Amino acid sequence: MPEYAFIGRSNVGKSSLINMLTSRKSLAKTSGRPGKTQLINHFLINKEWYLVDLPGYGYAKVSKTTKKVFQKFITQYFNLREQLVCAFVLVDIRHEPQPIDLEFMQYLGENGIPFCIIFTKADKLKPHAIDMHVENYRTVLLETWEEMPKHFITSSSKDIGKEDVLEYIDSLNQNMVDAPL
Ligand code: GDP
Repeated sequence: MPEYAFIGRSNVGKSSLINMLTSRKSLAKTSGRPGKTQLINHFLINKEWYLVDLPGYGYAKVSKTTKKVFQKFITQYFNLREQLVCAFVLVDIRHEPQPIDLEFMQYLGENGIPFCIIFTKADKLKPHAIDMHVENYRTVLLETWEEMPKHFITSSSKDIGKEDVLEYIDSLNQNMVDAPL
């Protein structure tokens, strides 16, 4: 069964996004406090694909040991990644590109792992500011990448971007049916 992994810095809005995509408010736990999603969870969607909820990275308030454990889970998952089709890297649309996110994308690229960017919390910015932030991201990414990775603009609180992400996943699933690896 194809898998799609969701990952990002703690508090980026991953649980809320997963709940929006799955339309089940209580599926992934959300909290105002970072650090709640700690293990890898697989959610079967439409009996067609797995949504893989990976631990957050970049916690400010956890010990070095905990950070290492999270890192181990993440790298173990990506090392195996037998069924992984695409990783979705979540970034908060309001922030400047953060070194930790750029490094993580670099890691995915170096390991040949396809990924997309999901900009979260778009409701917090006006449309022109959204464009500006995405352009800013593009400029920074183009310093190391040949092109801007595919990206989505979402807001879990305003239900924005859900169909775009789900349709993209469907299209990738369809491609695999048409042309299995
Ligand atoms: P996680 O740690 O990445 O799983 O983040 P959560 O989903 O728990 O969200 C962290 C905080 O951001 C919570 O207070 C959420 O209510 C808030 N949040 C998440 N998504 C959105 C969004 O799209 N818009 C707004 N305004 N707040 C959001």
